[in-house]
Amino acid sequence: ARQFTRPLNDLANQFNTLLSAIAGAERVFDILDEQEEEKSYSKNDLSSIDGKVVFSDVSFSYEEGEEKQTIEHVSFTAQAGETIALVGPTGAGKTTLINLISRFYETNEGFISIDGIDIKEVSRDSLRKQMAFVLQDTFLFHGTILENIRYGRLDASDKEVEEAASFANADSFIRKLPNQYQTEINHDGNGISHGQKQLLAIARAMLANPRILILDEATSSIDTITELKIQEALARLMEGRTTFVIAHRLNTIRNADQILVLKDGKILEKGTHEELVDMKGYYAGMVG
Ligand code: ADP
Repeated sequence: ARQFTRPLNDLANQFNTLLSAIAGAERVFDILDEQEEEKSYSKNDLSSIDGKVVFSDVSFSYEEGEEKQTIEHVSFTAQAGETIALVGPTGAGKTTLINLISRFYETNEGFISIDGIDIKEVSRDSLRKQMAFVLQDTFLFHGTILENIRYGRLDASDKEVEEAASFANADSFIRKLPNQYQTEINHDGNGISHGQKQLLAIARAMLANPRILILDEATSSIDTITELKIQEALARLMEGRTTFVIAHRLNTIRNADQILVLKDGKILEKGTHEELVDMKGYYAGMVG
């Protein structure tokens, strides 16, 4: 197992992020190429940020020369520490916005800044070190539970890993496993439920301790007790961090500082839950 996990750990070293989950495994190689390219000229590093994120008239298409852009003239400001809920129908562009913030893709027009710095001006690596991802499908690699959580910050001690797991409500289920933190899991996560994988992802993100969080709320059913543990752990994780959440649960949306209602790549409405309900527009119709 040791030998087998090595390339994946190297990969983890290179990206320090859960990119295969967000962008699809085939993108790994594109990104590797891009990273090589980036090395040829030096970029500044993004470090010690507050986490204010601004979209200024951002437009984007996956394919060049397309008539209709995937994202069209999107502008908004997320103050440091705010939670921004992205809602709207499938294909509206929620995932694409996330892909742009994390620079899996580059904007065609306009710019995105963090603490006033255009994200194109900093290395991808330093940008992603400021972010952690908790996605619907948690990327687990063949290795122990300990190694899988440590993926969030490779120099963390065993004790720090266990603290992060406790914080994420993952410690109690891990301690019931046959070999506890040394339990080997394969990439399918044998014997670990979908909800437990989410708890591991939260522990990983805790360990990374980023200023910016990207969440894609699970749509598949998770048992009620685990769901409660996830919600509690997420609330702790989100505390004080700028969070972008592709939200499916009404409760998450209600509690957000801002809701961006996306449709056909545009911001249709934005505001708090109360503001949007009062507008009696698309959102009000959506939440019934
Ligand atoms: P949402 O997350 O709101 O469901 P997406 O951002 O995934 O929406 O998709 C927005 C649009 O972009 C859709 O029309 C989708 O088909 C298209 N799209 C998404 N990913 C890609 C891609 N990698 N290449 C080309 N088109 C894409």
